[in-house]
Amino acid sequence: MLTSLIIPCYNEEQALPILYRSLWEVAEELGKTSEFEFIFVDDGSRDGTLRLLKELADQDERVAYLAFSRNFGKEAAMYAGLKNARGDYVAIMDADMQDPPSLLPEMFRLMEEGYDSVATRRVSRAGEPRLRSLGARMFYRVINRISDADIVDGARDFRLMKREMVDAVVAMSEYHRFSKGIFGWVGFRTCWLPFENVERAAGETKWSFWGLLKYSVEGIINFSQAPLSIASWCGIGLTGVSFLMVLFIVVRKLLFGDPVAGWPSLACIIVFLGGIQLLCMGIMGQYIAKTYMEVKGRPHYIIGETNRDGVKKIS
Ligand code: UDP
Ligand code: MG
Repeated sequence: MLTSLIIPCYNEEQALPILYRSLWEVAEELGKTSEFEFIFVDDGSRDGTLRLLKELADQDERVAYLAFSRNFGKEAAMYAGLKNARGDYVAIMDADMQDPPSLLPEMFRLMEEGYDSVATRRVSRAGEPRLRSLGARMFYRVINRISDADIVDGARDFRLMKREMVDAVVAMSEYHRFSKGIFGWVGFRTCWLPFENVERAAGETKWSFWGLLKYSVEGIINFSQAPLSIASWCGIGLTGVSFLMVLFIVVRKLLFGDPVAGWPSLACIIVFLGGIQLLCMGIMGQYIAKTYMEVKGRPHYIIGETNRDGVKKIS
């Protein structure tokens, strides 16, 4: 039985040799040395990643590389890997050892218990900036409340899947991808394997705080219509409030006459309403922008170079 390991790499020349060595060890431990294919997706790296991958591919025929024409992002890289994986089992894993390959044997064992997928989650966030962990925790709380994709706190993209599930994930060909949501959405029996956070083996993270924030908004917009209903409810609520205010003013006029006053409060109200209106338009704009990009049907990625035959280069 063939297992494909998909590894998205962006400027990972320092981490790759470490990862490759440990993949070797795991493959040997599993005694399935010949039954692996390693699909490295080079996401437009600007360092020596591609050169290194070519060297690996020369020495080891199980190594395949797909090199993008520019940086398309990890989501596109994972999608390219999934599309080109041939294995009956497929696993996705980061290049920096933060998804420890040593968990693989345990994951295979769990698969044999009849699961369709074994996914991993971090139970600690040691070594990560405070603000980032806090943001992440809030994100999981919000998205689980308001969307139908159930996403476990600390979920990683590191998971082992059966072919049926991979086909389902590949069939979801949306342009704006949010894999954690997609994995949950397609269903299948999934077993969660917890592990302690591991720090990057070498090199540095590609995610800025803003990058992560944008990615989490993407996740929410992709899997939930809740922001749109919040906007509508805001509108309804404020209309109600304005009726009450009219009533208040009319009654006051009838009882006490009409002294000219209240300009400052009026100004506040105008600014407040203007703000809410812009916010709601912004929310709608987010959805419309997403629709616009989906409708264009642009390719997810463009492969510049690969050592594999029969790969669709633009997809
Ligand atoms: N990655 C990628 N394209 C990008 C950014 C990241 O393929 O544009 C890869 C990166 O090489 C690594 C994985 O995605 O294998 C996770 O990235 P990183 O370790 O920087 O994220 P973190 O673990 O800090 O969340
Ligand atoms: Mg990492």
